[in-house]
Amino acid sequence: MFIRKSASSLTGAEQTAFVSAVLELKSSPSLMHPGDQTRHRYDDFVEVHLNAMAVMESTPPGQSWGHMASAFGPWHRVLLHHFEAELQQINPAVTLPYWDWTVDHDPTSPIWNPSFLGGNGQHNGLVPDGPFAQAHGAWPLVVLDDPANDVPFLTRFMGQAQDARSLPTTGMVTSARGTTPYDSSPWEDMMRDQNDPTQWTGFRIQLEVVLHNLVHRWVGGTMGAMSSPNDPVFWLHHGNIDRLWSDWIRQHQDQSPYLPLTGGPQGHNLYDPMIFHADGAPAPWQGDSRPVDVLDHHSLGYSYDTDPPGEVKLPMGPVPAQAELPVAAGEPVMAAMETAARRALPRFVLAREIAGLRDSPTESQSTQGPR
Ligand code: ZN
Ligand code: ZN
Repeated sequence: MFIRKSASSLTGAEQTAFVSAVLELKSSPSLMHPGDQTRHRYDDFVEVHLNAMAVMESTPPGQSWGHMASAFGPWHRVLLHHFEAELQQINPAVTLPYWDWTVDHDPTSPIWNPSFLGGNGQHNGLVPDGPFAQAHGAWPLVVLDDPANDVPFLTRFMGQAQDARSLPTTGMVTSARGTTPYDSSPWEDMMRDQNDPTQWTGFRIQLEVVLHNLVHRWVGGTMGAMSSPNDPVFWLHHGNIDRLWSDWIRQHQDQSPYLPLTGGPQGHNLYDPMIFHADGAPAPWQGDSRPVDVLDHHSLGYSYDTDPPGEVKLPMGPVPAQAELPVAAGEPVMAAMETAARRALPRFVLAREIAGLRDSPTESQSTQGPR
């Protein structure tokens, strides 16, 4: 079992090893586009994420793969697991650090050091220092949301968005972690009425919409795009999100660690293979993963440095066998209804646009209203 550590606790040598492995992946051949000299293996991971978000911005929006829906937790866990495994093929000593943004809470935090992730953007958001700066020449952005108009270099605008002046606080994390159940019907946020707070309940919405989206908006620039894994801090941010899901499972052993068990949209039920590529499009890696396969992060080989000492199996609520679950009758009709009702949501939808959900219940982070 290897340990994922807080990013700010890495030694200089550990920072260097992580950065070197990431840079090597950025220059390794693409597996999704073999022979394409313009793309590399790191870019494959960016492409998977961009595709996953783009399906939600089409008209009408398509079936969610891993955002604004139940599989947000396990989908990103699998993405991170494959990414980390490929870093470990390059250097077996490397593990994915996580960014605890309640501790490393501003642009002066050590993770933004020039020897690690580099710092805040300057002119036009351009990050001027660190290994991923345009000036170093090792980090051209290849997979972009809008290749004709997006800049091909790393940008950050920390804390500059009017609706994201500061990062989530410990109080916000505690509040989110206390929320049950894991998720609630209709399981896809595109199906929910933004003006009806009773439709926005459960931990997954707190985790994704309130905490996770705010961090993307706070970093801004590259992190605000569908192609946000172009900023390596994406992996550290999602490491923390992944850690918080495992903490929630441990804290609520009277709850199902994941929902829906059945009857939800394709790719989101407990025993559904999750979606990482469109039909007929190249797969990013071999094999399928279902939410049930990844409920215990230890089963994927890792622990967090905040896990209880000696824990090798995550204690969790009941997980029914597939044979115990009812077959979802009438699913085609339900799918047709869902398609009709689906509505596009703004990317990294603002929590405060949803009545009853707030970025911070205790602090006024911004005097500005929504938008
Ligand atoms: Zn994502
Ligand atoms: Zn994200």
